[in-house]
Amino acid sequence: MKLERESIELLLKALEKLEDGFDLPEVRHDFDHKKMEEVIIAAAERMQNNYPYFHPLFAGQMLKPPHPIAKAAYMMAMWINPNNHAMDGSKASSPMEKEVVSDLAKMFGWSQHLGHLTGGGTMANLEALWVAGNIHPDKTIVASDQAHYTHERISEVLKLKFSKVATDESGRIEISALEEKLKGGNVGTVVCTMGTTGLGSVDPLKEVLELQEKYSFRIHADAAYGGYFRLLDNLEPETIEKYAHLDSVDSIVIDPHKQGLQPYGCGCILFKNPEVAQCYIHDSPYTYFTSDDLHLGEISLECSRAGASAVGLWATHQLMPPIKNGTFAKDLAKSRNAALKFFNKLYYSDHFFPLLKPETDIVVWGIEGKKTSEMSDQATAFFKKAEKNKLYLSLYKYPTSKIKNSKFAIDSEYLTCLRSSLMKPEHDNWLEEIWTRMLASI
Ligand SMILES: *Cc1c(COP(=O)(O)O)cnc(C)c1O
Repeated sequence: MKLERESIELLLKALEKLEDGFDLPEVRHDFDHKKMEEVIIAAAERMQNNYPYFHPLFAGQMLKPPHPIAKAAYMMAMWINPNNHAMDGSKASSPMEKEVVSDLAKMFGWSQHLGHLTGGGTMANLEALWVAGNIHPDKTIVASDQAHYTHERISEVLKLKFSKVATDESGRIEISALEEKLKGGNVGTVVCTMGTTGLGSVDPLKEVLELQEKYSFRIHADAAYGGYFRLLDNLEPETIEKYAHLDSVDSIVIDPHKQGLQPYGCGCILFKNPEVAQCYIHDSPYTYFTSDDLHLGEISLECSRAGASAVGLWATHQLMPPIKNGTFAKDLAKSRNAALKFFNKLYYSDHFFPLLKPETDIVVWGIEGKKTSEMSDQATAFFKKAEKNKLYLSLYKYPTSKIKNSKFAIDSEYLTCLRSSLMKPEHDNWLEEIWTRMLASI
């Protein structure tokens, strides 16, 4: 098959424009072109050893190819190689970062914010919990047992107390269990996962906000995966309402490198209250000189950061702004649509059963059988056979303690299931082909 090459044509046009901006004497380079060609071919050969993450038949882990405009803009920026730590090293790309971060804050309904891009969701969550720890140094961080494992680990790094709350069978934080924790006192921050990494489930933010009035704590929304679903109207009404409440939380993490069509290295942290900037105050004797404007390094834990990430996201926002009913939202709605169609096929199938109704675009399903141990073995065998049929899925271990009213016997601690993140807009059109390969893999 042919790979996407539109980005290369765009890149050449962009470089021509970029070089017009520098009226300087020519630099002669002395690269060994022949050797470089050998090396790049060797690298491409090594890279053949990959699953086709960019292809709709890759319907497993969370992987979505960057948009050609993001790739072209990112690559073009590499000729400048800006560092968005200080304005001195990123005269153009730091202002572009401020614009895209403000676009994301607006998407959540925030008219003011403090925030910046990060290397990814882990760094962004680290900053959120670091600020939470600065505000409530001796209090506990609480997250659900389906929250990303990063929260527990980050709390360990920051030496903050951390406690896990149980989830219901759909993988959402259990409000009664959370209230028990809150009654015990000393909870400083509750992490709400707005789209879990495993099941794509969304924590009940409205109820958590109601508890906040009674018990008073910070709310951090980990929307690394699910943040963009705020733009959709083809979710369940309760889910739409949960995303609508994001304007009331204290901090939000969203990863443009997950659903937002960006190459890796693009996360984002947003704080509602710009005064948290006080936490970041530091004195650098060698960085901030040429501008009185805010240097992003003054409000960020990371120092050097790829300005190219900001340029890629900026270009993407110009083409497809993150607004309701825009092209980006319509493409994301296709992923959601694919998940619903897939769920229906599984529901009416004799061979498979959906574990849950998907809340976003992640579908988890099992293989029909008499007992969970056998069903788990069959799921693993199916996963391998599907790969032979060039359908790439992922596995998910669901705790059988959460299963209610099953037709099958429970004789193992976990039920191994299949899992698909249908996050490419093309998945909607490829569902029939995926289903044909599913049936061929039984
Ligand atoms: C992916 C993810 C993270 C971690 O983000 P990285 O970008 O992989 O560092 C955190 N939380 C959630 C909910 C995620 O889906």
